[in-house]
Parts: sequence; C-alpha cells; structure tokens
Amino acid sequence: MAVLWLEDVDADDVGTVGGKAASLGELIGAGLPVPPGFTVTAGTYRAFIEEAGIDEELFAAVDVDPEDSAALRAAEETAAELILETPLPDDVREEIVDRYRTMGDDGDEAFVAVRSSATAEDLPDSSFAGQQETFLNVREQDLIRRVKECWASLFTQRAIYYRQQRGFPHADVDIAVVVQRMVDAEKSGVMFTSHPSTGDPQITIEAAWGLGEAVVSGTVSPDNYVYDRERATVDEVTVADKKVEMVKDSETGETVTLEVDDERRNARVLSDEEIGELVELGKRVEDHYGTPQDVEWAIYDGEIYMLQSRPITTIQEEAESGGAADASDGAESTAGNGGTDDGATANSGSDRGLADDADVLVDGLGASPGVVSGTVRIVHKLDHLDQVQEGDVMVTEMTMPDMVPAMKRAAGIVTDEGGMTSHAAIISRELGVPAVVGTGNGTRILNDGQSVTLDGDKGTIRAGADDEAEPGEEFEPVEAARPETPVKPMTATEVKVNVSIPEAAERAAATGADGVGLLRIEHMVLSLGKTPEKYIAEHGARAYQDELIEGVRQVADEFYPRPVRVRTIDAPTDEFRELEGGDGEPTEHNPMLGWRGIRRSLDKPEPFRQELAAFARLYEMGYDNLEVMFPLVNDASDIEGIKRHMRESGIDPETHRWGVMIETPASALQIEELAAAGIDFASFGTNDLTQYTLAVDRNNEHVADRFDELHPAVLRLIGDTIETCRELGVDTSICGQAGSKPEMVEFLVEAGVSSISANIDAVRDVQHEVKRTEQRLLLDSVR
Ligand code: PEP
Ligand code: MG
Repeated sequence: MAVLWLEDVDADDVGTVGGKAASLGELIGAGLPVPPGFTVTAGTYRAFIEEAGIDEELFAAVDVDPEDSAALRAAEETAAELILETPLPDDVREEIVDRYRTMGDDGDEAFVAVRSSATAEDLPDSSFAGQQETFLNVREQDLIRRVKECWASLFTQRAIYYRQQRGFPHADVDIAVVVQRMVDAEKSGVMFTSHPSTGDPQITIEAAWGLGEAVVSGTVSPDNYVYDRERATVDEVTVADKKVEMVKDSETGETVTLEVDDERRNARVLSDEEIGELVELGKRVEDHYGTPQDVEWAIYDGEIYMLQSRPITTIQEEAESGGAADASDGAESTAGNGGTDDGATANSGSDRGLADDADVLVDGLGASPGVVSGTVRIVHKLDHLDQVQEGDVMVTEMTMPDMVPAMKRAAGIVTDEGGMTSHAAIISRELGVPAVVGTGNGTRILNDGQSVTLDGDKGTIRAGADDEAEPGEEFEPVEAARPETPVKPMTATEVKVNVSIPEAAERAAATGADGVGLLRIEHMVLSLGKTPEKYIAEHGARAYQDELIEGVRQVADEFYPRPVRVRTIDAPTDEFRELEGGDGEPTEHNPMLGWRGIRRSLDKPEPFRQELAAFARLYEMGYDNLEVMFPLVNDASDIEGIKRHMRESGIDPETHRWGVMIETPASALQIEELAAAGIDFASFGTNDLTQYTLAVDRNNEHVADRFDELHPAVLRLIGDTIETCRELGVDTSICGQAGSKPEMVEFLVEAGVSSISANIDAVRDVQHEVKRTEQRLLLDSVR
C-alpha cells in the first residue's frame, strides 16, 4: 500500500509514515479535528528507488567529502535529478492521485499541503538533516512532483553534510510524505487554553475573518473573547474593527489581503455557540498534551479545525525530529491556513502577554544593546553569507567565526541558540551590533524578507519597522565608542576592555580603557577555517605564528604602551570540529567540561608551543606591553607545565608578566598554590566560573535564568580569592562578562580588585561605577 489515511496510522507507525504523519494520526485518534489527509509511506520511497534501480547510484553520488562545498552542491544536484527525472510507476501514481481526488469538494480540486515526514529515528537532530520540505496550496498537476521533491529533500546539501560528517549511512534514512487538505478558513484565530502568563483557568480566544495568517502576523486586530473555565461563562467580549481579511485566491491559491465589507467589519466573529465549541476543543487539546496550549484554529463550512498547537509557557525544544512523534510537533505540521508555514507559528511558544506584546514575534536574551529595524535574512550554516546585505537582520541557528563579515554588515543579529557569553553575544557586542540570542525558534518563526524591529535591550523581535529605531548601519563606527566627555574618570582601580576580534581594536582603544584585560585568540584561529594542526600541516608552523602575530599586533599597536593580556587558545572540541581537519576531534558529551583550555594545550603541545613562539616573537619585536594569560587552569601542576613550555618557547616566566584565569572553583580554592608557583595575576573568568560553580551551562538558553554571576557562592569564591591575592601580592582582575555589571563592579572594588575588564560598550559606565564606589569607600573611611 503506497498510501494510508492519517486516521489509520498512529504512534506505532513512525517507522513507516514518519513522525509528522504518526502524530497527526494520534491526534485524529484522540478525537481532535485535524484537517483530513493521507500519507505516502516511506516504503513507497524505498520501493521507488530500488525498483527503478537508482538506489546504488544515488547513495554513491552523495558519498562526498562534506568539507568540499562544490562536491556537496554537485551531489545535491545529481540526487535531485535522479529522483525527479525517474518516472514513478503508474500504479503508485494512480494510488496517490486517487486519494487526492477524494479530498476535493463537489468535484473541485482540493488545495493541499505536501510535507516531508522523516522516519530516521536515530538521527539525533534531524533539523539539521534538512528533511523539512513543505509545499502549500498544491493541486493535482503539481502533486506528484511535490511528493518527489519531498523525497529529494533527503539529499539537500545540509542533509548530506550532516550525515557525512557523522558517518550516518544515507541508505538508512527513509522518508514519508504527508498530503493534507488546506483549510480555506472563513474565520480563524488563536486560543490560549489557560491564561498565557498567570496560568489561570481562563480561555482566551482571538478571532478574525478569513485566514489565520492575518491574526498571527498582526495584520488585523482580532476580536477577543475571554471564557472563565471555572464558572463556565464568557466573561468578556471585545469586538475589534477588522479592516482587512486574508483569503485564498480561488484561481492561484495565493493568499490575498482584501478589505472587509462594512457589514462584517465591526460585527462579532464568533457566536456563543462557536465559542462553546472552541472551548471544548481547547479543553480536549490541553488534556491530550497535559499542559496549557496555544492553539491555532480555523472554521470552514461550520466545522472547526485545529491547525496547530503548542505548549504556552514551556520553552520548547521543538526539534522537528522525525521519529520523536512529539505530538505537539505533529500538530504544528497540520495543514496550513493559507499563509506560510512559518508565519503560522508567530503567536506561539512563549509566555508573552496578549495585547501589549501582540506584535512580539520572537523573544530571547538581549545580548547586545540597541534598537534597529531591518529585513530578516535567514542564514543557515552552509548558506552563502553574501546574501546578508547591509542593514539586514541576520537570523541564524548560531553564529560561527566565518560569519563575522556578514555580522558586520548586519543591522542586527538573532540566534536560536546560545547564552549571554556565546560567540554571537560576544562578537555582536564588540561590533556594536544589537543582538538577541537564544530565541529557540527564531529561524523557524521569522520569515526571510520580513520587516522587523529588534530590541537588543529587551530581547524582542517585533513585526514591522519602527520609526524610532536606528536604520541599520554597517559596523558601529569608532566614534560611537568614544566617550562623549573626553575627560575620563581617574580611578585607582584600572578599567580595561575585552577584545575578541582584532577588527574591534580601534573601537576598544577609543574607549580610553587602561588596557586590554582579555584578548581572546580563538577567533583568529577559528577564522582560519582549519584546525591549528591542519593549518600547521599544510602551511607550516611559521605561517601559523604569522597569523597570530598579525591579529595580536593589531590590538597591541592600538593600545601600546597600555598592557594587553593575550590568552592562549580556549575553544571546545565542538568548535574545532566545525573546521577543516576537525574530523579527528573527539566526540564529547560535555565539551564544556571536556578537552579545552590549558588541558588540551598541555596534552597536545604542538599548536600551543606555536602560540607561545608567536608571543615570544612579539616580545622580540618590542611589544613589551603583552602579558600572557592561560585559561581553565585548575592547580599548580598545570602551572608547572605552563612554565616549562614558556621557557622552551623562549619566554622567561621570571621576567615577563603572565597569569591565569580563575574559571573553576578548584583554581579559586587553590589560589595559594597558584601564587606560590609564580603567577603575576589572576583574572576571574566569570562566564566559566559561574557555569562550573552553579552547574549551569553558559550556552544553554533553557537555564539562562539560572546563570547568575552574582550568586553568593560565586561571589564568595571571588571575594576570598581577592583577599588571598592581596596578601600574597598577586594582582586580580575580572574579564568575564560580569565585569560589565554595576553590582559586580561595586563588589569587586570593595573587595580590592586591581583591575576590571569590561565590554567595549560598558567601559564608560564601569569607569563611573568604579569611581563612585572608590569615593564612597574613601568617605566611609574618614567619617
Ligand atoms: C570567562 O570564562 O569568563 C572568560 C572570559 O572566558 P571565555 O568566555 O572565553 O570562556
Ligand atoms: Mg572562560
């Protein structure tokens, strides 16, 4: 059987019909009104490639070097050609078309959505596998081609790359396809089955004429109905002036926006009876999933359909994982409302308020301040970055070092993943580009080409341009970093600045900071596109040193003679793995707890020694303002290794100033031993120190609210370390993100820290905060 009705499948059929179809079948089984449809089983795809004899050729064509982008492109083309140009056997074609024909009304052709439904349960993250093809408003003439295009979506460049990288056999992945009727809604909207922020037993329904896209995109103000679940009454009815509606053009199937006729414009969309039916649906959906839901619904020909449902408050993983058969994921795939697939989700996913924040499409962590408007550009890892134009809002899963040129052009940056100390957050702050990170779903909810306003302070992305917002400018100019008042506050505690990309050196120096408290070299290395080992093997050790020297010099020149603390490399294995030569990196469950920082450098001294050799050459060149700093040190035995390598590389630890990061509780608790081993300074890396003290992953947006650098336990480690260092004559500093926070600054100055290193945009405020605290301490001492 090539095809199965959705009502005839359930969760046990994931292997034959894929995750999406299986969960839709489950919903139908639970009595939820999902639009009708059928699935073309995975076996149909398999039989097609095997019987046509194209399977071997197909799998051979996509067995390419994943790092070779030309080969990847060619592989995708060959696979698509094979699948699309090999004819489908007549009996299969007929079976699919016959099913389709029964879905139309009165002999009219039905508009259907055609979506892939992957079956590879063992793919840990199939969102990377690219099996997410969706075609809306499909009719008979295009049906078979669309089904085959879904099959071909198994072999997009991303999917090939993903499987090749992980050694996952292409032959082990199958794909089913869902064909589902689109609902030509007369009325539609959204429903929250409990109060979206308080969780009170109150159902809120928003409703407008036509397709739901008008409501979720904010194009129309909908009616609002509030139903009290305890008293079982409709408490509030607010009828809005609904100027427009979106409807489907009966010829093309395209969505068009029309003015609403006078009669309906100010009329109530839902009758009490309809509200009653929706309330019943809402209760059933909530019972089915066990949590309050944000439901998208539509009414057509007197029938209510559930188009989509998502939990309201939980931050959702939303992995469109093929086999996971996550029920709400399945509901999400329910046939569209005539709008785009992504747009349909705009109202969901977070505990936003209803009215005020109605135009907030996505929210996350405000990682780099500023408000900008621009056009959304969705960027995937393997995409060409030149599509990001000046002034665009770049939206991506997570930024990578090779995205920096595009990040500079962008007016704003949005990422799905990452916390306040992620690559995206750090680099966007240095570039002065507003950013929101850790949205969870930005790449799925925002649409390419859409106009949005990003607020990097509040962490929101709203629909539409805001007149107040800055037009997107390229890379904030140096002038913007320069203090408005030329006189900088004189402070006893030094105030320095952090730099991660040499391109930001000029802006950093313009702040008037007393030096660089942390110059990360990861960026310089990762942007070479190759692991250090591979780079050295191909270009030689000297060339590797030259690259480092060039980057460090840009910063050292800007600041000379102010001191610059340059840190040896600290990138986790998962970042190295992305690079050419990264295949040999170990697979670690917790790269943050794994082979990074000084551990890796001491275990694998070859690249480490080249870093030290580069610094030695810089000293020879006269950059006596450089101080070397070592990351993720735990104890004195690390120091012994460090000193040995310094000497062997021509850096005398007795005559040059060098020190360590305090990033683990161990290093804070072992500070006396570290001091005895000869360090000149200790600098708190609070990004890691917080992560390791509280056991909160710094890059995990799901626990971002628990990432508290001001936690008493973190402060105690810092305070005690400073006290010991003062006794032992070791300088102390901070170079983690928290050094930009006023509360931390006050704490550190009171504790007697020697210097504070802040982000470029925070230097001036930190200078003032330091001065204020120092003056208060002075006054306190004489009063
Ligand atoms: C830190 O851990 O606070 C730090 C500054 O280092 P990184 O953010 O590079 O890990
Ligand atoms: Mg660190």
